[in-house]
Amino acid sequence: MDRVYGGYEVKTYEEQFYVDAVSGVTLEAYENEVLGIAGESGCGKSTLLKIIYGYVKPPLTVRSGRVLVDTGKGSIDVLSMDLEERRSRIWWRYISYIPQNAMNVLNPTSRIRDHFAEVLRLHQGLDREEAYRVAAEYVTQLGLPRDVVNAFPHQLSGGMRQRVVIALALIMKPRVVLADEPTTALDVVVQRGILQTLIERQRELRNTLILVTHDMGVHAMLTDRIAIMYAGKIVEIGRTEEVFEKPLHPYTRMLIESLPRLGDKRVRKGLAGQPPDLRSPPPGCRFHPRCPYTTDRCRREEPPLVEVEKGHWVACWLYAKK
Ligand code: SF4
Repeated sequence: MDRVYGGYEVKTYEEQFYVDAVSGVTLEAYENEVLGIAGESGCGKSTLLKIIYGYVKPPLTVRSGRVLVDTGKGSIDVLSMDLEERRSRIWWRYISYIPQNAMNVLNPTSRIRDHFAEVLRLHQGLDREEAYRVAAEYVTQLGLPRDVVNAFPHQLSGGMRQRVVIALALIMKPRVVLADEPTTALDVVVQRGILQTLIERQRELRNTLILVTHDMGVHAMLTDRIAIMYAGKIVEIGRTEEVFEKPLHPYTRMLIESLPRLGDKRVRKGLAGQPPDLRSPPPGCRFHPRCPYTTDRCRREEPPLVEVEKGHWVACWLYAKK
């Protein structure tokens, strides 16, 4: 097709309306680790988590890629299954998802015990009464009162509903738990309790917790490794301690420098500029319009993700071999 007509470039429907929310991401998460994903709003963190879970429904589509989950008896590609297969074969059992605003995902017309019963019947073949008993037992282990299972969601506080959703996500002891901003909209004390529950269960199950939050303080305290996302791409990944002590990517440095520090009264600089519109991201390095070190090469060519020190990767021409 002739792409120029009357002096204007003609774009296909896909080119005009597709947003590459996440692209070129390769990520490994290990057993018994908490992997954090950080970045500004709209950088693709939540979309990435949905894709890993296989919760891919229009308008979200995956054009290419695989998500491999180790089941202990080999790995399965989540994206090769249809939604029904994911629901019956891998969700809850191998991989669980705690969505943003999880407290609003409970069906308002069902008692909490029925939410548990559905999962326990599907994956353990328990009858209704047995499932109710197991659910009541289980919630007490997570510090919830036993009779919470008899309540309807609207009878519980926001923090309590969030704990119920977390309990549901963990009841089948999944190998991978994905938590998307699990404490948004909760007060600080409740937030701390919920994060503590998540981490305690992760340590007990020795599984993988992938935690998305924009709160760098939470990453610093709770995660083993951290991946920094910018405009749909991972720009840095490494051990959390190392990334905080020695951030390599200019964007990571800006993120960390903008954090308040105890006793330091200097005014912190916010991040200058705005993330790009992902319908037409800038060529080359997507961070180049905001970066103080931009060169011509940055404007032209996308930097590869390279390992600068063992386990510490960065996508920036300042570190790539020429
Ligand atoms: Fe800045 Fe260039 Fe590195 Fe991108 S590749 S972060 S523009 S120095």
